[in-house]
Amino acid sequence: RDPNVKKPQWLRQRAPQGGRYQELKDSLSHLKLNTVCEEAQCPNIGECWNGGGGAGGEGDGIGTATIMLLGDTCTRGCRFCAVKTSRNPAPPDPMEPENTARAIASWGVGYIVLTSVDRDDLTDGGSGHFARTVKTLKDLKPEILVECLTSDFKGDLGAVSTVVHSGLDVFAHNIETVKRLQRLVRDPRAGYQQSLNVLKHAKTCKEGMITKSSIMLGLGESDDELKEAMSDMRSIGVDILTLGQYLQPTPLHLTVKEYVTPEKFAFWKEYGESIGFCYVASGPLVRSSYRAGEFFIESMLK
Ligand code: SF4
Ligand code: SF4
Repeated sequence: RDPNVKKPQWLRQRAPQGGRYQELKDSLSHLKLNTVCEEAQCPNIGECWNGGGGAGGEGDGIGTATIMLLGDTCTRGCRFCAVKTSRNPAPPDPMEPENTARAIASWGVGYIVLTSVDRDDLTDGGSGHFARTVKTLKDLKPEILVECLTSDFKGDLGAVSTVVHSGLDVFAHNIETVKRLQRLVRDPRAGYQQSLNVLKHAKTCKEGMITKSSIMLGLGESDDELKEAMSDMRSIGVDILTLGQYLQPTPLHLTVKEYVTPEKFAFWKEYGESIGFCYVASGPLVRSSYRAGEFFIESMLK
């Protein structure tokens, strides 16, 4: 961390609690399902799993959890991300789609986010693996809502179509930061225009597809740059946006340039919704999948 920028009070982690959280946690131990929520010790786990944003995260909304597919080793190396990297990660487990789908279907969560590392080593970038997981899950439990948070598949729009046509409810791909900071923050194989193309294709290749993206704040972006990114996303029909504080995972990663205040996050939510996003989740601890189920339902009711 930049020694001149002190971590503020509002980023203190909250201890997870709440009835449904405990139930889900207990039932998980019988299933072979590793959630990103637990592995990353995400501070939002109480709110997400309980499906509500009350003081202890109690709620009666739809619970959300995130599962990582395609292993734990990424072929890229972004400067904000602590995931392990390798040029040749182990091949994906061919049984993972079916086994994961079965485990999710027998668990109690109503909205599942499937995400993965980038797999530039695979011909289809892992898109077929995503699609099989969604199809199997929807066959087993049609009422479950599924979001896929994918890589850019190196700009391969055929791979994007494979995921979009798998039966999912929300297609998400994160642009991560404003245009100027892309090279500093993301792996050089990622890019602003490539990510916008992915989101645009997802929106247009299936009628009614809901798209979503996310930006981290506190990396040195200006207000005007953020407005430009938001406007670029709106111009290609992105429906849902999440904004959260960048936190440096280890001293080897990019330093935090600014801790954005909760008031400023509230301003961005209002601003984003005023320019046409169906829903903007914006707050210091907000992550891409933060309370995604509730927000999805809310945005559908608008
Ligand atoms: Fe899980 Fe995402 Fe919610 Fe964190 S924000 S608890 S990773 S669903
Ligand atoms: Fe991390 Fe994704 Fe970048 Fe891989 S592509 S290093 S998982 S942010």
